[in-house]
Amino acid sequence: MDADGMTLECGKTIDEISDYLDSGRSPYDPEIETCPDCLNALDALERAGRLSRELIAADAAEMPEPSENWFHGVMNAVRAELRAGRSIPLSHPDPRVSMTVTEGAVQALIRASGDAIDGVFIGHSRIIGDVEVPDAPIAVDITASVAWGESLPTAAGAVRRAVSDALAHHTELNVTAVDVTVEDLHRPFPPKDTA
Ligand SMILES: [Zn+2]
Repeated sequence: MDADGMTLECGKTIDEISDYLDSGRSPYDPEIETCPDCLNALDALERAGRLSRELIAADAAEMPEPSENWFHGVMNAVRAELRAGRSIPLSHPDPRVSMTVTEGAVQALIRASGDAIDGVFIGHSRIIGDVEVPDAPIAVDITASVAWGESLPTAAGAVRRAVSDALAHHTELNVTAVDVTVEDLHRPFPPKDTA
């Protein structure tokens, strides 16, 4: 990460997007609101910010510090995912068309599928293997925070399943392993608004 903020594919910086979000997306910026890269970034920052505020508020009562630190790590991971990363090929019926999806977009998909599970927050993910080569075996490493009281093996299994399903549905990656490490616990708070 460079000192003056990371830059999206379209040229906007994460800091610009973050400031725009903080201003309540007002005044309306048509350049941001019509750009897919910017909208992705807005969405990711908005979701991560909301989750971390809820979690820190829920934890403030009696949990020790690690969760807050953990969430700073999550914000950094979300920002890192907004960098494009490697290009992952997708097949297209017309051989003249070359399509790819970015590694960052796949990591955002992993995060969204895990975060949709009640009691679970994704920390960061790593996609291991030669993603640029079709059919190469790919492993995914994920860290997560799980609410107190949830069964850790159940939660980890749910994450593994949700992420495997999402990757099978939306990518052509040959995923051979999804490993989930629970590295933090948090106080439960009301069920997520998954709308
Ligand atoms: Zn943009």
